Order: sequence, then C-alpha cells, then structure tokens
Amino acid sequence: MSRNHKDDTILNHDTYKDQHGAVVPPIYQNSLFTFDSWDAIDKAFDNKADDFIYSRLMNPTVKIAEEKIAALCHGEKAKLCGSGIAAITSAILHCVKANEHIVTIKNIYGPTNNFINKYLKTRFGISATYVDGRSIEEFEKAIRPNTSLIYLESPASLTLELQDLKAVAALAKAKGIKTVIDNTWASPIFQKPLTLGIDIEVHSASKYLGGHSDVVAGVIISSRKTMDAIITAEHELLGAKMAPFEGWLILRSLRTLTIRMKAIMENSMKVASFLEQDERIQQVNYPGLRSFEQYALGAEQMSGYSGLMSFELKTKDLSEIKTFVNALELFKLGVSWGGHDSLVYAPVISYLKELSPDKFAAMGINASLIRISVGLEHYEDLIADLSSALRKM
Ligand SMILES: *Cc1c(COP(=O)(O)O)cnc(C)c1O
Repeated sequence: MSRNHKDDTILNHDTYKDQHGAVVPPIYQNSLFTFDSWDAIDKAFDNKADDFIYSRLMNPTVKIAEEKIAALCHGEKAKLCGSGIAAITSAILHCVKANEHIVTIKNIYGPTNNFINKYLKTRFGISATYVDGRSIEEFEKAIRPNTSLIYLESPASLTLELQDLKAVAALAKAKGIKTVIDNTWASPIFQKPLTLGIDIEVHSASKYLGGHSDVVAGVIISSRKTMDAIITAEHELLGAKMAPFEGWLILRSLRTLTIRMKAIMENSMKVASFLEQDERIQQVNYPGLRSFEQYALGAEQMSGYSGLMSFELKTKDLSEIKTFVNALELFKLGVSWGGHDSLVYAPVISYLKELSPDKFAAMGINASLIRISVGLEHYEDLIADLSSALRKM
C-alpha cells in the first residue's frame, strides 16, 4: 500500500499474503521468533527496527496495521503503542533533553500536561510555556534559546480551539525546533499534519482508530529516520509495545474508519446545529459550525469534523447542570470518546477533585462546560435525548 492510494483503498486492501490464502491476517500470538542459524539471528540484530525478533519490538499482526496507518498519514513509518499516552510520552522524550524548554498550548489533554509540567519538570528540569494556540505571535514570543519542542493538539480536545499547523511548522523549522501534534480529534481521515510540515503525529487509537470502545492503544507516525530512532530508544526501552490482539482489533477497525468518520461527521453537524439554536445553551464549541471563531482556518487545514464537541449551559447552578447530565439516556456518562457510542462528560467533576471551589472559580473555567462525543446512533434520537434532558433542567 502506498500513500498514492486513496484512504479507503489503503484501509481495505491487504498486501499481506497468507500461506493458506486466509483473507484476514492472523493474530500472531507469539512472544519471540526463531532463526535457522547463528548468522540469521546475527543479521536480524543488525536490522532491529525492521526484522521480527521479539514481540516487544515488533509483531507481524501489529506491523500490518502500522503500515496502513503510516500510508494513511502520509508518513514513512508508524509504531503502535499500548496506549495513547505511551505514544505521547515516547514522542516527547525523543524530542527533549534535560533542562530544555517546551512550548505548548493552554488546555492541553490533562495527562499530557501532567507529564510535561509535573514529571519532566521535577525529574529533568524541563520547563514549559503555555500559549494561546490561536495566536502564532504567542508561539513566536514563547520560543527561547533552549526550546527543543513545540507540542500541539489541534483541535484541542476540550475547548476545541485550533493552531495554524503550517505556520507553526514553518516557525519551528526555521529555528531547528521539533514539532509534535496530537491529531486524535480529527483522525487521519480529516487532517494530515505531516503534509503540513509537522514532524511527528501521535494519536490515542483508543478513540477513532479503534472506534468501538474496546481497545486502549496509541500510535506515532513520522519519517523513517525519526521512527527508527524512537523505536530503538523510547519505544523499546519504555516497553510501550502493543499486544498482537490489540493490533488485530485496530486492523479490523481501520477497514471502516472512513465510513465511520463520515457518519459521525453527519451526526455531529446535526447535533451541533441543534445545540446552537437552543435557548438554554450559551455557546457551542465545534469547528464544523460556521459560527466557530476559527472556522476558516479549520476548513483550510482539515477536510472534515469529528464527533467531539463542548458547550456551555447558560445556568451556573451546579444542581441544574447535574440534573441535565443525569437526565441523558442515550449519551452515557463516562470519560474517553471516539467510539460508536455517544458519551457525555462534565469536566467540572474532575476539576472539583483537584481544586477548591475558590481556586476553580479563580481559574475562570466555566462549571457549566459539558463535553459530548457523538457516536453512530441515529441523530434524531440523539437530538431528542438532548432536548428532553435540557427541558428537565
Ligand atoms: C484519550 C486521549 C489521549 C490518551 O490516550 P489513551 O489511549 O487513553 O492513553 C491523548 N490525547 C487525547 C486528545 C485524548 O483524548
């Protein structure tokens, strides 16, 4: 498969040849691979990034999925990991050394923020500047002589604001700074950051790539040179590997990725438009809406919109917000997103665990911010569910 094929072809045509002619690749459920001779294993060790030796490094089932994802993202190589956060931490560690500096955005995914701002800071003296990702000037101003990484998430998964990927990539390249993007929201179907000049793309494959809420996984995509460096250092040494069965599940999910994304987009546009016109709602954050502040930038760098959005209820009364969330029947209450099933989450539940109500108010976070992930149920039922919960508030 090559990047010259269309996404649907990459995802649905297998070049894998099975000795029995099995149409679907098997799950290679083995930890190690054996060799005919001393010379053969010796040669494999010289080619560790590409030969099968041990499943912590590489597994045939997982590799088939990796090749599809690499072609889909227009990258040269991909590596699947045991979770999205394993992919993120491996990619970040590849880019930074002790006492260097990271520029990233406010409202970055929580555990990524903890890794940068708590772990890397206290263990390795790595500092970070958080910018408003909507402003290229803020990125420019934040760069220091020791900045080695600009870490992006566009759209950001809670507040949905975008970064101008081409502009940030050009700025970073001019200064010899690496760029990493968490592209989980758009999926490789709707956004291809490597074609816009970004160095490394990461995903939580637990979301759209998996798509059925039944696997936790992640993936890193980049040039062959960068990937071989990550594979033989961070990925191997931190044990970020993916298990064969997870690889097989991802492979199966990839076959329907384009049609799932199209259906999710159709549903989400309907749901977002409904929310936008409801009088109990203050604001809807969804890049597919014409009213979205950065609609033009989104339309330029993405080819579609996924199913995660947030909105603010007009009420600030926590008990009313609770009533709304509890009244939803089709939108199940839980973390994560990107599956077939529609979900709702109120970030205030987490914030109130970490911050006192005073601190929370001082941060200016809106308690009435609700995040929903629109799944594959019929949009009329989803809108009816939201409408009825809003009326119960
Ligand atoms: C879920 C998520 C992750 C982490 O992925 P896991 O597979 O849960 O480890 C990273 N980034 C974003 C934007 C996410 O939503």
